[in-house]
Amino acid sequence: MNPLLDFSGLPRFDAIQPEHVAPAIMQLVAVNRALVERLADPAKPASWAGFVAPLIDGGEQLSRAWGIVGHLHSVNDIPPWREAYNAMLPEVTRFHSELGQNLALFAKFKALRASSEYAALNPAQRRIVDNDIRDFRLSGAELAEADKPRFQAIQEELAALGAKFSENLLDATNAYAEYVTEEDLLAGIPADVCQAARAAAQKENKAGWKFTLHAPSYGPVMQYADHRPLRASMYRAYATRASEQGKADYPQGAGRGCKAAEAATTTHFDNSPLIVQILKLHAEEARMLGYANYAEVSLVPKMAESPQKVAEFLREIAAKARPFAERDVAQLNEFAEREMGLKTMESWDLAWASEKLKQARFSFSDEEVKHYLPEPQVLQGLFSVIEKLFGVALEPDSAPVWHPDVRFFRIVRNGQLIGQFYLDLYARDEKRGGAWMDEAITRRRIAAGMQTPVAYLNCNFPGPVGNKPACFTHDEVITLFHECGHGLHHLLSQVEELPVSGIHGVEWDAVELPSQFMENFCWEWEVLSGMTHHVDSGETLPRALYDKMLAAKNFQSGMATLRQIEFALFDLRLHSEYDPHGRQSVLELLDEVRREVAVIVPPPWQRFPQSFSHIFAGGYSAGYYSYKWAEVLSADAYEAFEEGSQRSGSVLDAATGEKFWREILAVGGSRPALDSFRAFRGREPRVDALLRHNGMISAQ
Ligand SMILES: [Zn+2]
Repeated sequence: MNPLLDFSGLPRFDAIQPEHVAPAIMQLVAVNRALVERLADPAKPASWAGFVAPLIDGGEQLSRAWGIVGHLHSVNDIPPWREAYNAMLPEVTRFHSELGQNLALFAKFKALRASSEYAALNPAQRRIVDNDIRDFRLSGAELAEADKPRFQAIQEELAALGAKFSENLLDATNAYAEYVTEEDLLAGIPADVCQAARAAAQKENKAGWKFTLHAPSYGPVMQYADHRPLRASMYRAYATRASEQGKADYPQGAGRGCKAAEAATTTHFDNSPLIVQILKLHAEEARMLGYANYAEVSLVPKMAESPQKVAEFLREIAAKARPFAERDVAQLNEFAEREMGLKTMESWDLAWASEKLKQARFSFSDEEVKHYLPEPQVLQGLFSVIEKLFGVALEPDSAPVWHPDVRFFRIVRNGQLIGQFYLDLYARDEKRGGAWMDEAITRRRIAAGMQTPVAYLNCNFPGPVGNKPACFTHDEVITLFHECGHGLHHLLSQVEELPVSGIHGVEWDAVELPSQFMENFCWEWEVLSGMTHHVDSGETLPRALYDKMLAAKNFQSGMATLRQIEFALFDLRLHSEYDPHGRQSVLELLDEVRREVAVIVPPPWQRFPQSFSHIFAGGYSAGYYSYKWAEVLSADAYEAFEEGSQRSGSVLDAATGEKFWREILAVGGSRPALDSFRAFRGREPRVDALLRHNGMISAQ
């Protein structure tokens, strides 16, 4: 039997081979196609048991099998797995897009919604029906037949424009390079960055060092290069990428000892006309769907209620953060003038001067902290946080795995199995980068009883060297807690219906609540000191070092906050108030936003929108605010634990943990995130906890 088609228990990683993929997936897609055809039959009743339940069952088998293939492609990306995955990807994608366009299915969902049975469904089931109808509507299923081709054409043109936007940005980024030929001009730039630049020049048979606009090269130059003309030249190139300003006067480069690549003199990659066209199409799409603007469309499946609410939210944070941002700027200017004789702070000086100020104020290295955070203590600390908060036990368990370094654990409460998870911590050549949580099995009620959930937690941390345990930087520990937050959202679900169990069906702007919530514990002295154990001396983290870490975390948080608000408010206004057919230009709107919220105004030739790929190519249109939104929710939720600690003496307060589980984690997507938040906190979300956690506390 094909082990990918065995759904009786945990994935059989000891048996599954690349050659199993095509037959299993082809079979599951065929079975699902036949099932959908049968269920879409208008002659059959649109009941839960006869229509929705079998649709969910069939879909689960395909997504479980395909989930295993996707997981192996991510953690073991060797050629046979890549080929097996890529060969079936179009098949699976095509099936899902057929499903989304199937009007007979849409009609059955609407019939169920209109039937007397609907009122008798439980709230989770009603939400599933409502979500399906909503998604069909947003994809144009309810338009008049005559309008559908135009709607489809808009979608296709938007996809093509988004792809072109990204291409232009990448091509413009690649078109520029700065060649440095005199070694003394490299002062300040870290040695490894210089080495990479040297290798890049050698590859082209050129002398000297080649610096580019890609992050690993551009970032360190802006932050560390003492040679101001080099920073200025590279800033100008970066800030005008993919715009009509690409023709600007930098082909000569930074001057003495520096020369820019010839290709810099081009405007072939101008994104300006694409921006206007994308905005026009978004506005047209919104009108066709019956909304006043695209921001309204974007918010339909999100937690935020309206563009007005989002604008109020952003402006409230801006107003509260402003005094701190102004203080940050004043301190930076004062320091730069006093210590470096810098009279006028230009945009290309900001990161460099800030780095110098940061070094002067808090000198410690990530490496120093890392020696206090060996893996066994970190895992013990993390597990103990979860155990104390939720009254559960985390125990080693066994299962077939895809690599010998992978471990498997179970979560138990009063002897009862709650869920299980794989932990794959270390980086490997064949593993994709970053850290992520993925689901293997989702909690739901099945014929045999309750199906318990299983999650994959994946990181890319350095493994142990020699006979010493692996040590993690504080950032890596935060990443681990973050992914565990997603894991808990999946594993502590108490929902019985798959499409709204765990993270399924959770609004996009609320799904980061549990993950960012968990990060907070890494900044808690009680928690952090408890998981430190110097790898050589065995000492715990000194309090003075912790204080410096905390201060460094909040360094320039006012400035950083206002920059995020500027991006989010620009995105929101562009998709709610801005008229792409009107007289105001996109840049004029950006100026208006900056006059309202920014404390640092870049030079007039800067062209930020032309590289804002999140909103023009990344699916974040009228959604950029969600980064701040989720941060606010998680900080505010965490504040309940800080309040709990005033009663119990510990931030790991079991009573608050129980409530967080019950009202947030347990219910997953089965009810609106705002209802869950209100049920947990007893009120609407407030921005104050986040500002306080970022060190922005008013004097009074
Ligand atoms: Zn996340």
